[in-house]
Amino acid sequence: MKQIAVIGAGTMGNGIAHVFAQNGFKVNLVDISQTALDKGLATITKNLDRMVAKEVLTTAEKTNTLERINGYTSMVQGAEGVDLIVEAATENLTLKLDIFKQLDEISASNTILATNTSSISITQIAAVTQRPDKVIGMHFMNPVPIMKLVEIIRGYSTSDEVTKSIMDLSVKLGKTPTEVNDYPGFVANRILMPMINEAIETLYTGVAGVVEIDTVMKLGMAHPMGPLQLADFIGLDVCLFILNVMYDGFKNPKYAPCPLLVNMVAAGKLGVKSGEGFYDYANTRKAEVIASQFK
Ligand code: NAD
Repeated sequence: MKQIAVIGAGTMGNGIAHVFAQNGFKVNLVDISQTALDKGLATITKNLDRMVAKEVLTTAEKTNTLERINGYTSMVQGAEGVDLIVEAATENLTLKLDIFKQLDEISASNTILATNTSSISITQIAAVTQRPDKVIGMHFMNPVPIMKLVEIIRGYSTSDEVTKSIMDLSVKLGKTPTEVNDYPGFVANRILMPMINEAIETLYTGVAGVVEIDTVMKLGMAHPMGPLQLADFIGLDVCLFILNVMYDGFKNPKYAPCPLLVNMVAAGKLGVKSGEGFYDYANTRKAEVIASQFK
């Protein structure tokens, strides 16, 4: 594989494009919005600059990496002549099904179609294409240039050959791929989201405050970030969406989202991206304790 397309230039898409380009692949980065595309490209430049400043990368490597990335707002142009397409557009079932239907029509029949979805069924996405054996989950973690794990999700019909080639490719990117099967939440979110939900439930039922809950998990369990701060970082709307996918998928009440999480999302308190969640981010991306109902 030499040439890749990444669909969506947001948080994950620009990170995925960055990692592929830094490892020698030519990347077509596609976003429906020119503003989002410009922002994604600017973020890649900023992150590469930071790596140069830390002497992890030379200036020449930075220039070469940027030269390998081309931006497009047309999926038809972006998908032309590529060996692999990694979809990292907004987490929305209808949108993803629509994108995969289009990608199946416009890309070469041997192109592998991967999705970075956090929770949507790979099998369901694959079913709208004529090549379900070539559709696979390639779930990168945020921030992509730093996090080593790629959760590789095999859909019901994904072939051994495609799985192997995506596992090998992930190793070439300097990542550690881990193969899992296609059930709601896969492995990462199946385990992480109930923990986050339980932390919110612990807060909701008044067992302890935000800082106390996060401190117990950081110092007691050696987690680098407490579950409430992590939820803010992921986005509370994203956490709610994933919990609902698991709740619907398993029909098991243990995945029911805590009412406090539902309320916070309804109130627009989404965490870092909205400036407030369990912590305040009005002035900084660093979590600050807020004088609120949580204290
Ligand atoms: P984001 O909102 O930051 O970016 C999504 C981008 O997709 C936006 O720039 C939007 O303009 C673009 N887009 C929407 N429709 C499009 C279309 N039809 N064609 C091209 N581009 C389109 O979202 P994100 O956080 O980067 O998430 C992207 C995917 O990655 C989701 O499936 C999400 O579940 C998954 N994911 C997110 C995280 C995370 O921590 N944010 C972690 C792992 C996986």
